[in-house]
Amino acid sequence: MELTADEAREAIDKGIPLLQAGRVGVDPHAVEDELRRLSRNLAETAELGTAAQRTAEKLGAETVDLAPLLGPALSAERATIERAAGDLGVDADALAELLELALQPFLWEATARLGALTDIDRWDRGYCPVCGAWPGLAELLGPEKRRALRCVRCGVMWSWFVLLCPYCGNDDHRTLGVLQEEGSPSRVDVCRSCNGYVKAIPSYTPSAAVMLAAADVTTMHLDLAAGEAGYKRPGDVDVRTAGIPRLVRQRASYAQE
Ligand SMILES: [Zn+2]
Ligand SMILES: [Zn+2]
Repeated sequence: MELTADEAREAIDKGIPLLQAGRVGVDPHAVEDELRRLSRNLAETAELGTAAQRTAEKLGAETVDLAPLLGPALSAERATIERAAGDLGVDADALAELLELALQPFLWEATARLGALTDIDRWDRGYCPVCGAWPGLAELLGPEKRRALRCVRCGVMWSWFVLLCPYCGNDDHRTLGVLQEEGSPSRVDVCRSCNGYVKAIPSYTPSAAVMLAAADVTTMHLDLAAGEAGYKRPGDVDVRTAGIPRLVRQRASYAQE
């Protein structure tokens, strides 16, 4: 059963990432083919004898039943992947990475379908509305530099206030700041409350999902600068309130009273 428009709207209202809220049709056999193709490539190009290379060789030669692994891989549920790696006799990190790569085109497709199903931009949380990951970067869009968060994993975009930390929900301008090299159009938004940071790059229009990983890599100098200044991604967040803006938390507690 695919997620309906009503279920998707309800999940967006409740802050539940859509891939957690319901099944999205991803054909395990198509992902298996992609995993085998990627594994064969990696087995040939990676350094011989490393854990990654041995894992790729095995996954390239065998057919792995991915049906029970798709859900855990989509929601980055580590324990199940580790058990599967143990059963297969392969390296867990390499398996997780290969699965992630194999799933990416299907994630992009799912994101596009979900975007047509419901208005994702109504999402008011700091984590990804589709897959639940933390944003990889922000784009500052158009001449007015409107800030939008981007999930590098599934490609989704959602609008976000400039003075709001996506990790801890802090919106106090006194503890929010910017690291920016003089003359550079890119910057790093930092939060002194949770020590988190988000890179921000100007872009006239939103980048295509397939370009985001490259944008993430070419702005690595911003990650280094943020790390040197003592910031990390995500910041130190409390699991109970992670990704929920202060105002949204207040609204929820008023509603309960
Ligand atoms: Zn995502
Ligand atoms: Zn914060």
